[in-house]
Amino acid sequence: MLNLIIFGPPGSGKGTHSIKLVEKYKLRHISTGDIFRSEIGNKTTLGMRAKSFMDKGELVPDEVVLDMLFSVMDRYSDAKGFVFDGFPRTIVQAEKFDEMLALRKMPVSLVISLDVNEDELINRLVKRGIESGRTDDTEEVIRQRLNVYNKQTKPLLNYYKKKKLLQSVYGIGRIDEIFEKICSVIENFASV
Ligand code: AMP
Repeated sequence: MLNLIIFGPPGSGKGTHSIKLVEKYKLRHISTGDIFRSEIGNKTTLGMRAKSFMDKGELVPDEVVLDMLFSVMDRYSDAKGFVFDGFPRTIVQAEKFDEMLALRKMPVSLVISLDVNEDELINRLVKRGIESGRTDDTEEVIRQRLNVYNKQTKPLLNYYKKKKLLQSVYGIGRIDEIFEKICSVIENFASV
């Protein structure tokens, strides 16, 4: 089973590369942000709860994210593996996730961190906001999301480094070239 975590700040290309990985390795894509956006679109209680945090650039509370993630994974119990995109985002999420994976005997294969500097992230996100109309891609919310990333999510780099699961890939350049680097990291380091 191949379980990949695509890690990085907002705008680093997690979504783009996750879609390509899912297609290449025939995995299930789990993007917690996409799931929340779909719940918001359907005006569910979960969606409305998540929206109040997302609009401010804050993280949705851990227990809400974890409950949702575990129920989605139960639905895909026949999957060959997963690409986790935008999850985990806090140490608590990573610890609970590890406990859950240990029970299911399906460890994380590799964490791929996309390295992109802050100026480039802001440019990309502002552009995406204009093109896609994503309501959290406005400059003020983007800055808040980057602060939240630095405070709450970035410490996970060390968490996975200690577990010897972390590999970094430079995330600026042509998409196909970055994707090739990601694939060679997977083929060299993931125990498939
Ligand atoms: P994303 O599409 O991954 O950039 O996520 C968009 C927003 O959804 C984030 O700014 C958070 O408000 C929320 N979100 C997505 N994934 C998580 C997560 N794992 N933990 C907490 N909040 C999340």
